[in-house]
Amino acid sequence: MFGRFGSMMGAMISAPASLFGARFALALAHRPLPADVLAFLSAPAWVARARLSAPVADASVQRPWAWRLRFGDVLGPCKGGVRFHPGVTEENLVALAARILLKCAVNDLPHGGAAGGVAIDPKTLGPVGREALARDYVRAFFDVIGPERDILSPDLGTDARLMAVMSTEYDRLARRFVPAAINGKPPGQGGVLGRHGATARGAFAVMETLLPRWDLGVAGARFSVQGFGAAGGTFAAEAVARGARVVAASDTSAALLCNAGLPVDALLAAKAAGRPLATLALPGVTVAPPDALFATRTDWLVCAALPGQVTAAVAAEVDCRGVVEIANAAVDDAGDEVLRARGVHVLPDVVVNAGGITVSHFEWVQGRTGAPLAAAEVAARLDARMRETARRLDETATAHGVPLTVAAQMMAQDRLRAACGA
Ligand code: NAD
Repeated sequence: MFGRFGSMMGAMISAPASLFGARFALALAHRPLPADVLAFLSAPAWVARARLSAPVADASVQRPWAWRLRFGDVLGPCKGGVRFHPGVTEENLVALAARILLKCAVNDLPHGGAAGGVAIDPKTLGPVGREALARDYVRAFFDVIGPERDILSPDLGTDARLMAVMSTEYDRLARRFVPAAINGKPPGQGGVLGRHGATARGAFAVMETLLPRWDLGVAGARFSVQGFGAAGGTFAAEAVARGARVVAASDTSAALLCNAGLPVDALLAAKAAGRPLATLALPGVTVAPPDALFATRTDWLVCAALPGQVTAAVAAEVDCRGVVEIANAAVDDAGDEVLRARGVHVLPDVVVNAGGITVSHFEWVQGRTGAPLAAAEVAARLDARMRETARRLDETATAHGVPLTVAAQMMAQDRLRAACGA
């Protein structure tokens, strides 16, 4: 069994193909992995569980379960989020860590996958309770996390402020300054400049590298953005800045449609003020139900809402050249098949949305070296890395005659095979 620091505490939760999904299985069908690598990928190397204490505003205390687990530490120290959410379970954390492992492998980042969280609704705690829970999480798992083992980052229910709290707690316990243990901190507290907008920036670096394979480009293209939130809104602004048109945008309240191009600044201002898209009345803009966005004629459908949005039915309805998966697993397995049959390209999540995890890696590097990175340096390094991954993706897809979704999995499998020395 591979893995440097793990004892096999994790149960064999599921076989790799079912854990990593249909695209992974398609890649395996092209080039099988040795049995020992598959066994290594079938379960996390290490799982820890603890009971925390979280003070509730009414002075009582909750005792929620918390987890930390690592998956695939052959690539380097693992990294992964800390999720405060009532739906956290060991099984969904295993899936999250596996996804991060794949994302690091395909993007050649020197990290394995980790995940962790607390099964609690953070809304039941006040700010002081959330801070206490964050400190307790670090205390519970102090021995198994750290810059050379498992690096924490924000996820659902945690944010930059809580990461700064976790970082100070880690430093207090370690009795020294260890900024590389915790990522996603505010720039003034050891974070990296340029994190905001990194996902959209990375996605465009990938698109600008890949679109020429179909004689297409970003300038002049039409985009529809499902999920006009943090990632989708920034993506739309970047699209306009690059000379493209955003012809449709949606949130849970409505889809706004305008073939001449939506006034993206007005949409961003409304969202920043907490107003849903349905409340906007703009000249020449049609307000429709959210799912009306799918049938709108466009060049690129950008999915930036939730997993599983492009089902077989949606895939049969879309009128676009390609789908850009900003949300993880935005296209489900059946949707993938229909899009493939219809010749609609899919730019896969593991590559196209990797800007955030890449900049998070830069924060770890900055924390280890002590040399602060300037914003322009972060942007330049991000562009270079994303373009290089996209170039390799293009090459792999062409060499094996497979879609980009499958080529990405082949790249990840090759990286893992090499790291295992198999
Ligand atoms: P967010 O909460 O800021 O935005 C999500 C948006 O999607 C919201 O505006 C919400 O109203 C909308 N939405 C939800 N369901 C919808 C539906 N059925 N139809 C239309 N709109 C819907 O979240 P975010 O940070 O922008 O992340 C969006 C997705 O991208 C998530 O799946 C996230 O995991 C993924 N992602 C984000 C980043 C990042 O840097 N933010 C990086 C990688 C992946």
